[in-house]
Parts: sequence; structure tokens; C-alpha cells
Amino acid sequence: MTDDALTPDQIQQIRDRVAELMPQVRADLEELVRIPSVSASSFDQSQVARSAEAVAELLRREGLDVEVVVEGGRPAVIGHLDGPAGAPTVTLYAHHDVQPPGDDADWDSSPFEPVERDGRLYGRGAADDKAGVMAHVAALRAHAGNLPVGVTVFVEGEEESGSPSLGTILEKHGDRLAADAIVIADSGNWDIGTPALTTTLRGGIRVVVRVQTLDHSVHSGMFGGAAPDATTALVRLLASLHDADGNVAVAGLDAGEAADIDYDEQRFRAESGLLDDVSLIGSGSILSRLWNKPSITTIGIDATSIDKASNTLSAKAAAKISVRLAPTQDPLVAFDRVREHLEANAPWGARLTVELEEHGSGFAADANGPVYDEARASFADAWGTDPVDMGVGGSIPFISDFSARFPDASIIVTGVEDPDTRAHGANESLHLGEFEKVCVAEAVFLARLGALRPAR
Ligand SMILES: [Zn+2]
Repeated sequence: MTDDALTPDQIQQIRDRVAELMPQVRADLEELVRIPSVSASSFDQSQVARSAEAVAELLRREGLDVEVVVEGGRPAVIGHLDGPAGAPTVTLYAHHDVQPPGDDADWDSSPFEPVERDGRLYGRGAADDKAGVMAHVAALRAHAGNLPVGVTVFVEGEEESGSPSLGTILEKHGDRLAADAIVIADSGNWDIGTPALTTTLRGGIRVVVRVQTLDHSVHSGMFGGAAPDATTALVRLLASLHDADGNVAVAGLDAGEAADIDYDEQRFRAESGLLDDVSLIGSGSILSRLWNKPSITTIGIDATSIDKASNTLSAKAAAKISVRLAPTQDPLVAFDRVREHLEANAPWGARLTVELEEHGSGFAADANGPVYDEARASFADAWGTDPVDMGVGGSIPFISDFSARFPDASIIVTGVEDPDTRAHGANESLHLGEFEKVCVAEAVFLARLGALRPAR
């Protein structure tokens, strides 16, 4: 690989070309936003079919061979266009379905009628993820008639519903999606003016623990003081999951460190709504706690409610805990560690049952090698500043499906969101200035990958 796969002039030409294209890209984005393609089953699914067809038509106009694929779920769109002989291949992922809009009254303008205010385009899907779809289309348009790489576009229709048929799609059509690089445009950037590659996502498990101390509930006056009640035993058990500083106390879970990115306590307090006198928990940098270390949250408890309380020792109580896992952690191994911890810490010999309700893998990109080098260079070309490696504390479970199915591909997670996007919330919006940079970065990336070829 050479240091400069493209000349500054070539990069400037792509910037200029994308700038010319943006009015039409935006108009097409607005047309997509006007289709209320909510994939949740209580919504009109003919709209999801309409948005699939609209995406298919956009890709056909760019000369792609396009098929709308339905494998028991919502319609996905797969399009392909060959590049020059021997050129690398790239698969571009986005999704055309959206979250339900929620209550219209919470929106300042109608969710499915895009409106610009202060440089942002408001509407459900204006960012997540119809702008991801349009970033791919914009990159194709920027190279119309002279595509530097082979491109497959895969636009899913059920990401917001947990991608139930993605496994089948990957099984039946995976050969068409295989590529040297897979660009997943469904995340975001670090801040306005600071691009990011999302290189880690946490995994997670949900565990239900049930505690029993007595054969049946009994009078607290007659037996309290000598027999333990199940609710108190459960609370002591849950308390054992953290040390006094709030670090997860379960032995044997993976933990790592985040890249050194500026993120201070004040910003965290403002974003999380943490009360003034409440301290943060855990140790290490805040971003490591959010992205690279495990966390445990009690998300539900079954115990006698205050309304129904009587002077009784409860026989049974239960809790559901959500455990977020370091990106590299095997979730089933993590479940074993959590189960062992709970069994070892059952107070007073209380009987336990521990059940794994749900598990999902995290993702840790191998963020090295020529494809990542060109991706980073492309972001720097578009923004004038290097991208940061960003983590995400939550999960995008389908990304681990991709990395399992295509272990040799470089998976690059990008996106159009910024900290004010409010994806899934009311007043979702896209920063139009940043969106143009996303389009430039992707168009430059395709050119840079194509230019890598002779040096391979
Ligand atoms: Zn999304």
C-alpha cells in the first residue's frame, strides 16, 4: 500500500461532486422519510414494503442489479454492481425500517413530514437509518459510471424489530454479501466536527434469579428473628454483585480500557441526569466503564408490594438482572461466572435457581490493516480531523452475526448520528452539514479502496 492512494486533487473532486449531489440526495432522503416504514407488527406493513421498493428503485437508477428479498420477515433489498476486474468488493449495510414515532404531541413537527430547523432535518428515520441508506446511494452517485470497487448494497427492513430473519437471509443470500470490507452505516460520530469509527460494542445477558428460604410464608412475629425471609436474602444477594465503590464484583469477567477520548464527569452527569449528590460508580475512565467493562443492573424484582404487605416472612422472591459485557466476552461463559457468583453468595443457605433469559455477543473490530487505514484516511479527508475509535455501551446484535458469517471481511461501523440525533425518540434529526461529510467520507473510501488494488 502506498501512503497516498489518492491525490489531493482527486479528493477535492470527490468533495465537489458530493456537494453538487447533496440537494438531490436530500430530496430523496425526504421522500424516504415520508414513508412510515415502522417494522413493529402493530403498524401497517404495506409501508415497509413501499419503502423497500423505494430503496430498490434508488439502487436500480444507479445501475445495480436489485432484488427485494423476503425470508419470513420484512423485505430486505440486495443490489449489486461489479467493479473493475480484480477490484476489491465492498458491502454497504443500512436499514430502511424505523422505530414507531411515539406520541405525535411530543414532536415539534409531524414525524413523517421532514422539516429543516437550524441546519437539522427532523423526522422519524431522517437519521436512523434512512440517512444511512442515502449515504450509500450518494457514494454510488459520486462514482456513477466509474465505480472503483465492486459494491453490494444490503438494506434490511427489520433492524428496529430485532432482525428476526437476518439469520435466514445470511444463510440463503450470504454468498452475495461476502466482501473485502463491510460498511455498516447504523451508528454515529463522536461529536459535531469529530468523526468516529465504532470499533467496540458491549454484549449482554439477562438473568433471572429466584430465592426461596421457607416452605411457605409465615408470621413475622412468631418466626422473625430466627428464620430469614426471601426478600431480605435476595437484596443481600443483589448487593453482593458490586463492591463498595460500585465495581462489578463477579470474578472472571473480561474488562478492558477505552481509547483516550475527552469525556468528563460534568458531561456524563448532564447526559445521564445523575443527581448532584449521587456519586458515579466503578473505577477507571468513565468511557471504559461505559464501553469496555461489565456492568450489572437490577431491572426488575418480584416481591410483595407495599400495598399488599402484611407481617409475614416471604418464602420466595426473584429479580431480573441485566449484565452488560466487555466487547470480547463470550456471553455464555459470562453467564457461568454470574451463576457461580450468585450460588456462592446465597445468604444463609437460601435456595436459588438461576436462569439465562437472553444473551447477545458484543463486537470488537480488528481495527487494523489496510481497509481500516483507508477508512481512517477517508474520514480525515472529509472532516479535516482524524476519527476517534468509539465504543458503544449497548449492543447491535446483528453486527456479531455479520462478523461470524464473514470472519475475513473488515467490518467498519460508521453512521450519521451525533449526540443530538435522538434516534428512537421524539424530534429525531439529522445534522445536514455532518451528513454531507459522511457522504464524502464514504465516496472517498470507495475510491481509496479501489486505488489500493495495484499495490496489493
Ligand atoms: Zn438503526
